[in-house]
Amino acid sequence: MKGTGITLRDVTVAYDRRPAVHHVEGAFEPGSLTAVVGPNGAGKSTLLKAIVGALKPVSGVVDRAGLRSRDLGYLPQAAEIDRSFPLTVADTVLLGAWRRTGALRGVDQATGKQAREALSAVGLEGFGRRAVGALSAGQFQRVLFARLLLQDAAVILLDEPFTAIDARTTRDLLDLVHRWHNEGRTVITVLHDFEQVRAHCPQALLLAREQIAWGNTDTVLAPANLLRARAMAENWDENAAICEQPAGTAA
Ligand code: ADP
Ligand code: MG
Repeated sequence: MKGTGITLRDVTVAYDRRPAVHHVEGAFEPGSLTAVVGPNGAGKSTLLKAIVGALKPVSGVVDRAGLRSRDLGYLPQAAEIDRSFPLTVADTVLLGAWRRTGALRGVDQATGKQAREALSAVGLEGFGRRAVGALSAGQFQRVLFARLLLQDAAVILLDEPFTAIDARTTRDLLDLVHRWHNEGRTVITVLHDFEQVRAHCPQALLLAREQIAWGNTDTVLAPANLLRARAMAENWDENAAICEQPAGTAA
C-alpha cells in the first residue's frame, strides 16, 4: 500500500459564510498517523469533510495528490450515520468494495471472501446475515471498520471512532489502526482522549477553529497549547460575525 499525503494550503471552511475552521496550513505526510484534537465545536469534523471533499473550502486548497474523494476511506461521527436502513452486516461491508469498484451487482466470489475475512478480522465471524440495526454500538463500529478494510484505501479518515464504544472494541479497533499505519496508509483520526492520542498517534493537529499547533504529538499537546485552545473555546460566540473576506484573497 503506497501512502499518499494530503496537503492543506490556507484552508477555510464555512457554513453560510461563517467560518467553522480557518486558515489551516500543513501536510499529512504519506504514511503518517495523525490525531485531530480540540474542544467541541473546534471544526474537527468540518475539516475532515473538507479533506474528503464533502464540503468545499471557501478559500484555500486541499491537495489530495491526485486521489479522488471516493478513493479516501471515511468514517463519519456516529451521530451522522443512519442505522435504521435495513441492511445486513454483509451488505454494509460490501459497500466498501462498491466504493472501490463502483459495482455492487454481481459481487464476485473473491469479494465475498474478502468481506468474510474482513468480518473475521474485526471479530464478527458469522455475523453476515444479521441486520445492522440489531447490533450494539461496538459491533456496528466493528462492521464499519470491516467496510474500511474492504475499501482498501490509501488514506483513511476516522471521526471520533471510539466515542461511546466499549473498551474491548476500542482496543481491537486500535489494533487495526496500527495495522493500517504499518501498511503505510495515511491515517487521520479525530480523538478526544489525550492519553489515547499520546499512546497511539505520532502526529497531532490541535484545532480551536484556527490551527493551534500541528506536528509531533508531544509538542502539540504541550500545556501552553492546550490552555490556548481552551481559552479560545471559552470565548466562542456562536453568532460570530460573517466573514466578509471574499474567497481566494489572502488574509
Ligand atoms: P467539532 O467536530 O470540532 O466538534 P464541527 O466541525 O462539528 O466541530 O463544528 C464546527 C462549527 O461549525 C460549530 O460551531 C458547529 O456548530 C458548526 N457547524 C457544524 N456543522 C454545521 C452545519 N451543517 N451547518 C451550520 N453550522 C455547522
Ligand atoms: Mg465533530
